[in-house]
Amino acid sequence: MKNLMFLILMCAAQVEAKTYENYQLLKATPKTQQQVKELKAMFNDEYPELDIWFPPTTVNRSTEFLVSPSLLSSVKNRLKSLEIEIVVINHNIQTAIDEENGIRRGQGQYVMSWSRNITAKFANYDEIKSLLKHFNKNHSHVNLYKIGSSVENRDMLIIKFSTGPNKKAIFVESGMHGREWLSVASIVKIIKWMASKRGKDSKIDAMMTRYDWVFVPMSNPDGYHYTHTNDRMWRKNRRKITKNCIGTDLNRNFAANWRGVFSSREPCNNNFRGPSVFSEPESRVLASYVKQLQPIAFFSIHTYSQVILTPFAYNYITPQNHGQLTRLAETAATAMERVDRHRFAVSVASRYTNPANGVAFDWAKMRLTTKYSYLIELRPTVGDSYGFIAPKTQIKPSALELLAGLQTFANGFS
Ligand SMILES: [Zn+2]
Repeated sequence: MKNLMFLILMCAAQVEAKTYENYQLLKATPKTQQQVKELKAMFNDEYPELDIWFPPTTVNRSTEFLVSPSLLSSVKNRLKSLEIEIVVINHNIQTAIDEENGIRRGQGQYVMSWSRNITAKFANYDEIKSLLKHFNKNHSHVNLYKIGSSVENRDMLIIKFSTGPNKKAIFVESGMHGREWLSVASIVKIIKWMASKRGKDSKIDAMMTRYDWVFVPMSNPDGYHYTHTNDRMWRKNRRKITKNCIGTDLNRNFAANWRGVFSSREPCNNNFRGPSVFSEPESRVLASYVKQLQPIAFFSIHTYSQVILTPFAYNYITPQNHGQLTRLAETAATAMERVDRHRFAVSVASRYTNPANGVAFDWAKMRLTTKYSYLIELRPTVGDSYGFIAPKTQIKPSALELLAGLQTFANGFS
């Protein structure tokens, strides 16, 4: 009966949600510096409403963006006039959205396949919350805490793994961008393994022998919830800023050179930095908790493009232990590649795409005693067909490779 109710609710939500029918995911590769400039100007000035999945950076590196049916011919013509070649990576992104949780297109209606295993699918906020409560109740080394509330009064939850007193903590947050479902699902899967495999898996035990592990699997609960109910592509939180603009990019709202030029001041923009530093309850709650925790390491988990980023994002400068941060990241990337042959690049954040201000992992490195701070962008690479919309079959391999990475990192921390 409960399952049936859920099925009905999900179908109702599916009907109301914004449709991405015939939205196309395009890839463009600039061949000259001039074309890089033209692409940036085109995205900023001519088509500010385009959803840029991966920004233009440099010559011979692709940019990826989602285009609505109403803009399609205009955008394609504009790119043609600039002599920039495009590839259609996905002809209808709604098909991928339908498929990611096993909703298949039937004869004019949606067919939903139910999965009992919450960690094998892209669970919603409430499902993940009950799963965390379940782990808290059933495992003595697991503790669940509410550290604050979101704009819409959802719980900001941390789950802590501890097998003894006086250990340094490793902090991991995911889901700061609502639509990056694979980051949340991979972390939830890892949480499940760390809860249930204690005493059965020597690598899991070893992780917890030296460190406490603290996870915030949903650091943007409202944005994440909204992607399940209304708009699969929502990125920001859900606080109203102006009459027509909702949401701040939480990963531009931290006290890490917040006032700089590499974040948007425009409230409707997907990278809007917020009206002031730490203006948002979610970033505030997270920061005040982490400040008190003073973890040895801080990880932000995002999707996508398969890269381990080191500080800083806000500027081309690097921290004092840059060499060590990079060597560790390369060792972790090698361990991750061994799992499923997915190669993760290693780069300083500001040099990888474009610099960004107000980023959480910069803040951790700048303002805390945290020695090791990283942002990991999970699967897929740029150019794969799914981008942010991973099929649920990707959850387990993604979680396995991320776990291998985190274990390797932890072995290298001192
Ligand atoms: Zn992200």
